[in-house]
Amino acid sequence: MRSGSERISVLDIFKIGIGPSSSHTMGPWKAGLTFIAELKKKNVLTEITSIRVALYGSLAKTGKGHGTDMAVILGLSGYDPETIDLGLINEVVEKVKTNCTIHLGVIHELEFNPAKDIVFHSDKCLSFHPNGILFEAITNRGLNFAYTFYSVGGGFIVCDELELSKQFNYHFPYPIDSAEDLNRWAQSSNKSVSHIVMENELSLRTEKELKHELKGIWKVMADCMFKGCHSEGMLPGGLNVQRRARAMNINMLPGDESADFSEWLKLIKSKSFTFPEILKWVSCFAIAVNEENASFGRVVTAPTNGAAGVIPAVLMYYLCFVDGAKEEDILKFLLVAGEMGSIFKKGSTISGAMGGCQAEIGVSSAMAAAALSEVLGGKPENVIMAAEIAMEHHLGLTCDPVGGLVQVPCIERNSMGSIKAITAAYLALEGNPASAKVSLDSVIKTMWDTAQDMNSKYKETSDGGLAINIPVNLADC
Ligand code: SF4
Repeated sequence: MRSGSERISVLDIFKIGIGPSSSHTMGPWKAGLTFIAELKKKNVLTEITSIRVALYGSLAKTGKGHGTDMAVILGLSGYDPETIDLGLINEVVEKVKTNCTIHLGVIHELEFNPAKDIVFHSDKCLSFHPNGILFEAITNRGLNFAYTFYSVGGGFIVCDELELSKQFNYHFPYPIDSAEDLNRWAQSSNKSVSHIVMENELSLRTEKELKHELKGIWKVMADCMFKGCHSEGMLPGGLNVQRRARAMNINMLPGDESADFSEWLKLIKSKSFTFPEILKWVSCFAIAVNEENASFGRVVTAPTNGAAGVIPAVLMYYLCFVDGAKEEDILKFLLVAGEMGSIFKKGSTISGAMGGCQAEIGVSSAMAAAALSEVLGGKPENVIMAAEIAMEHHLGLTCDPVGGLVQVPCIERNSMGSIKAITAAYLALEGNPASAKVSLDSVIKTMWDTAQDMNSKYKETSDGGLAINIPVNLADC
């Protein structure tokens, strides 16, 4: 779904949350929280006697593997995905399932049997978006409250009954809807892309606040990579996928006993690595994040959870392997990547259920390519060209998660998106944007057209592609 001329902050693109999916976990979770907030606003929360949830389209088809029911329970229970203690997740969900009661918004207890009260309508799809979710609550006075939400990708939600889009209507000094707008502002102001995005962000918050938020985002990304590279075992869900990042880390860094991310970063930087080893490192960083994501770990949506590994991996590549890399460039990197994600959201989609994996890995690769080009000293034209190259070679990429889990092909696909982003950044830095045949805006339009033409089997339904050609029986696992 194209969001047109929304004014989105980079902090709306990068959301701290829980895996495995921004549209199937984070979106429904936020929808549950928003529904509860509305009931509170109407002063009826404590009068609710029954609550039912209906999931439609892609949410129904792959919701079980993506933890949608878990997310709904946690949202209705009033927990925030950004701050919830990860150790509480299973406990809260299991309690609701076992006791068949829920504490709405933490405070109001009522009967709720997830097996009966969360209904997966796999054969029905709401017309506005494939990720539809209906919440209905009835009070002891017989009043009925029904809200229909759509999880439109990247953890963004819209609602038929609420004007949630109003929150994305900021007044920026440099309003940007397209790559052409961005380039025009850059040329007329003679400023870098990161500078322009920074000025837009400073119209919303102070520099100190912005830096604090962006550092917090990088910290979650960094901790996630570190944790993924130091955790072993099998991923949950029944596919029996073994974690790989830890073994890759040990192979390249024998004897690694780093206590935290900064020790680990220093250790990697202190060694020299061959080209194939650097390629392996980039894959390792990306895989680490998405193994954490698949394990319901804490990740940053960038621009989605399924594609959360690309931006951290490419940024880590820069910090570890590029001579002269500066830590202060992390903020520039995130500003540029965030703005690119926002341009794709406005001109096309960042929802796998709407556009296939080109909308997830393709967009994250374009975001990372642009950001890397910026910190490597690219001019705005090169930065925009880098995003164009990265997306051009993801056009048509389908979404076909095996077993409805965000594991195969999703985890490795983050490695591929990262490597393509790095290649695209260097190609753009060598290229001549003035003679480029393809513009970023035309690629974004092509991506949208391709999304329209793509068969729904390849849009996060697990009805086609690898999902049907790889025999799995999750019930046996
Ligand atoms: S295949 Fe791509 S779009 Fe689909 S769930 Fe996996 S990462 Fe997301």
